[in-house]
Amino acid sequence: MQREGHPGDPVLITLFRTTVVLGANALVMPPSQKRSVSPASDPAVEPVTSAQRGAGRGSQEHRRSPGGAHRARSHDRRPPDRDEDSTVDDQAVAACLEREGAKLVSCPELADKIDHDALKVIRRLRRQGYIAFLVGGGVRDLLLGARPKDFDVATSAHPHEVKAAFRNCRLIGRRFRLAHILYSGGKIIEVATFRRSPGTAGDAGDLLIRRDNDFGEPFEDAYRRDFTINGLFYDLGGSRVVDFVGGLADVEARSLRMIGDPTVRLREDPVRIMRAIKFSARLDLGIDAELHDALVAQRGELAKAATARIFEEILRLLRGGAAARSFYLAWEMGVLAELMPSLSAFIDDGGPAVTHFWRTLSTLDARVRADGCPEDSALFTLLILPLLLEHAPDPAKCSPDDFDPLWDDFQPRLAVPKRLREVVRLIVRAYPRMIRGKAGAFVGRDYFAAAQVVAQVERAAAGETLVLDLQDDGGGPVKRRRRRRRPQLLS
Ligand code: ATP
Ligand code: MG
Repeated sequence: MQREGHPGDPVLITLFRTTVVLGANALVMPPSQKRSVSPASDPAVEPVTSAQRGAGRGSQEHRRSPGGAHRARSHDRRPPDRDEDSTVDDQAVAACLEREGAKLVSCPELADKIDHDALKVIRRLRRQGYIAFLVGGGVRDLLLGARPKDFDVATSAHPHEVKAAFRNCRLIGRRFRLAHILYSGGKIIEVATFRRSPGTAGDAGDLLIRRDNDFGEPFEDAYRRDFTINGLFYDLGGSRVVDFVGGLADVEARSLRMIGDPTVRLREDPVRIMRAIKFSARLDLGIDAELHDALVAQRGELAKAATARIFEEILRLLRGGAAARSFYLAWEMGVLAELMPSLSAFIDDGGPAVTHFWRTLSTLDARVRADGCPEDSALFTLLILPLLLEHAPDPAKCSPDDFDPLWDDFQPRLAVPKRLREVVRLIVRAYPRMIRGKAGAFVGRDYFAAAQVVAQVERAAAGETLVLDLQDDGGGPVKRRRRRRRPQLLS
């Protein structure tokens, strides 16, 4: 199919440079072909993973104060979380990791960039004899020179052992227990026990993963992850990156490559298709040719993924400051047609409206990068604004029913929550007045901030600066309904 969607727009041309990397490096060895020494069966490492696991748990410093949480805090005599106090035998760990096939690359400068609280979590786990690595997006983003969104930790400690080590810990997840260590300002350090890929229980043709809760060894934990750049660990003990999956080479090449066979891994979890688009767009990474082909070929598998996960990923594409590139990639690979057929068809048609659509998303991206992320309702409205306006001939009067065909189009693939749909409708009702600068009637409504973002971004994309008049001009499109008084109950 001929793709057109950014006709000659200089802003967009720079955005949509090709992302397919040809001449891919050798694929990493799939887990099934790897032979490794399990730390538990390796005498050199036994003391680290088993005997030392839990060391210090019964000690005074980890017992709850009988005076309760408040008293415990004010009398906290835990030693500071310094790494010199670690009881992990780092040399034994390194030897084991290398036997399991890891490449260890010294990288002391990375430690200075790790979030202070994540460091505290890792150090405390290490003091208690557990292996604990920084994992996932935190390591990847630091290596790529990007600012990490969050810092996750993987450890040999089991969830209840993590809980015992931290007062500020909450266990979440029913299927797979994860520990959230809570810090001020809403910061959460997520701590997960090393786990292995569960394998698939379905029939021969069905690779979909339905359970994911088997604990495992560090190398198994690396191989169960999605992309090589997401499978890297940072070991504070040796100030080194632990690479089982060839992720360092891909960081260097700025290439997104699946761990293992892309077709199998995408069929195991089709949401990885959207994650590939997200990382490629957000981090400006080329997509390995084999992965690219599998993304296109397996896009139909998205129908098997949980709709709530898909909607969350759509929001993540919008929140990442690279929405234009993300949705362009999704459209170009035919993924958008699977998820939002009407939006994909609108882009297929091309023309000035589509150029304006891409400009709107680029303007949104610039705003997200400069000022942070607006509310989800603003993000989603901006994505589907052309379709919303098409379904509401008179936006100022649109009723919930006007959008039924649109939601029917999306709903089978992404479960747009009912509340969000209603806020989107209110934003669209406000839209005609808001883009004329008449905001007075909407000030104080709980959707005002989102409506303001939508109007500002949309006008900025058209090359205009929107100045909003916040005085109530009395001409609001929504007549306030008189509240019915509740009947007084006689006591
Ligand atoms: P972000 O910066 O968006 O948070 P992230 O890589 O940290 O990116 P998360 O969703 O926070 O992504 O997941 C943390 C890690 O868990 C990932 O880096 C990856 O290693 C692993 N992971 C997450 N989702 C999957 C998945 N669907 N399949 C395999 N591994 C996954
Ligand atoms: Mg993350």
